[in-house]
Amino acid sequence: METSIDGAAEGGAETAATVVDEAAGAVGTVPGAAVRAATAPASLSPSRAGDFMQCPLLYRFRVIDRLPEKPSEAATRGTLVHAVLERLFDAPAAERTAPRAKSLVPGQWDRLRETRPEVVELFADDPDGERLARWLAEAERLVERWFTLEDPSRLEPAERELFVETELDSGLRLRGIIDRVDVAPTGEVRIVDYKTGKAPRPEYAEGALFQMKFYALVVWRLKQVVPRRLQLVYLGSGDVLTYDPVPADLERVERKLLALWEAIRLATETGDWRPRPTKLCGWCDHQAHCPEFGGTPPPYPLPVAAAAPGGVRG
Ligand code: SF4
Repeated sequence: METSIDGAAEGGAETAATVVDEAAGAVGTVPGAAVRAATAPASLSPSRAGDFMQCPLLYRFRVIDRLPEKPSEAATRGTLVHAVLERLFDAPAAERTAPRAKSLVPGQWDRLRETRPEVVELFADDPDGERLARWLAEAERLVERWFTLEDPSRLEPAERELFVETELDSGLRLRGIIDRVDVAPTGEVRIVDYKTGKAPRPEYAEGALFQMKFYALVVWRLKQVVPRRLQLVYLGSGDVLTYDPVPADLERVERKLLALWEAIRLATETGDWRPRPTKLCGWCDHQAHCPEFGGTPPPYPLPVAAAAPGGVRG
């Protein structure tokens, strides 16, 4: 069987039919059927890089197939808490207190429901609002715990929810959103990320720091300054994990990302997106499509008929 794949941009042109022959793990041609070409996307974020490292098939489902995922209580609470911590810095320093922060929770929840109406379904089966009340109370506890780890009245972030993007010499674009950037009067930069979960055990700290080193690499490339400190604030367990990077760390991350990028490019070309089952499968929304759980992935690349109404999603 001839193995080939068309090179149109992700989500872009329709091409002659190419689908995966799952048994052979190769890409072949089906006469008469139109498909959406699959091409490795032009950029990488820490989340998507993490997806591929965790499970290449998960990356495919999210980035190539764009299968929908249900909102989860934990992830939505994370979004809510992040919004509260960000908005608190709108207040003058002396007013950045725990009660003030907690008072922002209901309003930010209203805002989240407006901007992402799908989160409402989380509590569709909670007519008396008990579960929602517990969920909001947990969000308040996480917000309150932040004050045991940092003192926002003594912080003046240079940036909050900062979108960053840079292009490496190889052409790979790196992008992401940094929760907070602090800049000292001396010009030293600290990158801060909030986590609503618990701190990882020490043997898993390197994985947690990967995202921060990714951001540090982007900032280094953009501003020619290696951030002085990377700081992960774990609201779930009340821990702070810090790391002071040196250029060699970030060069290592760059090499790792390029290798990852090459692996993604190869998988896109061959259609060989292997499932890598781990205990994290318990949180995966795509078991119904995953061979490890008896499921069948969608044809690869996607038939045009599977695209969203109004055209192929870009
Ligand atoms: S269920 Fe597990 S192996 Fe299957 S796609 Fe999800 S993360 Fe990968």
